[in-house]
Amino acid sequence: MTEAATPEVRSKPILSQEIAFGIVHLLPLGALFTGATFFDWMVCLFLYVSRMFWITGGYHRYFAHKSYKTSRWFQFVIAFMAQTSAQKGALWWAAHHRHHHRYSDTPKDPHSMKVYGFWYSHVGWIVGPDFKETDYKVIGDYAKYPELVWLNKHYLVAPVSLAVFVTALGGIVNGGSITTMFTSAGLSTLFIGFFLSTVILYHATFSINSIMHYFGKPRYKTGDESKNNLLLALLTLGEGWHNNHHYYEVASRQGFFWWEIDISYYILRGLAAVGLIWDLKEVPKHILHSTDKQNAQELRKQMEKDRPPIAGGEVQKPLEEDVVDY
Ligand SMILES: [Zn+2]
Ligand SMILES: [Zn+2]
Repeated sequence: MTEAATPEVRSKPILSQEIAFGIVHLLPLGALFTGATFFDWMVCLFLYVSRMFWITGGYHRYFAHKSYKTSRWFQFVIAFMAQTSAQKGALWWAAHHRHHHRYSDTPKDPHSMKVYGFWYSHVGWIVGPDFKETDYKVIGDYAKYPELVWLNKHYLVAPVSLAVFVTALGGIVNGGSITTMFTSAGLSTLFIGFFLSTVILYHATFSINSIMHYFGKPRYKTGDESKNNLLLALLTLGEGWHNNHHYYEVASRQGFFWWEIDISYYILRGLAAVGLIWDLKEVPKHILHSTDKQNAQELRKQMEKDRPPIAGGEVQKPLEEDVVDY
């Protein structure tokens, strides 16, 4: 449990600046006029699942936590694909998330449900004016790449490109020709395939910030309110193992045991198998089987003592540290 402290004063949203965010929520209703085809619903499902992966595997596990390595060109692909979810720039997303871990469930946490309540932690901090800017100092390890800074500043390029592509695809599949993309054929795919999945993605992601610090069980003592929850883990491709994640945030997996389903991790393993990413950080044994950080250190010392000596008097490499290296 964190100590009670005085919450910061957080500004209320300026409604005129949030009209676009509101309209995105209303656009799926456009399907009441265009109708929706089976294809549109399939696009909706596909764009939910695939973009959820890029949010968790990209924004979160790569940019916020550096839980694996990749090449410069694929790093750009990851940022672009994550940004198709319309959750702003990868550097903006990751910098705020690093703040969340640093100050979890204290007044400085951008979105603590414990300190600021459900609505603020879910959506208030996003629509309010306090967290609009990217703190490039916090994300200096990636802000040194000009292409990522460009993408971060022009964060609408990726979602708008996807929206246009999806509308054209709808025209071709529903209407038989790309020339029908601005009729009901293409627009229904835009409303349901793109916008509905975008809105559901928003609230699934926001739920990690809000209710994942409330509903579920903690396995480890982390000093914050983070919890593990299977249902959220299934809906968010693995992010529901949030207490595990707060305990050892640099790991590329958040389901620490085989029964903790973590689909993003399986996909990351697949990308590693084909050589697109590498050096996935695993969970050291002394972390896995401990109850809190002090206990983990004791286990680590014990495990180092128990290791058999190396022939020839060579010094054993120390066991992996549970440090955050960013
Ligand atoms: Zn959290
Ligand atoms: Zn995190």
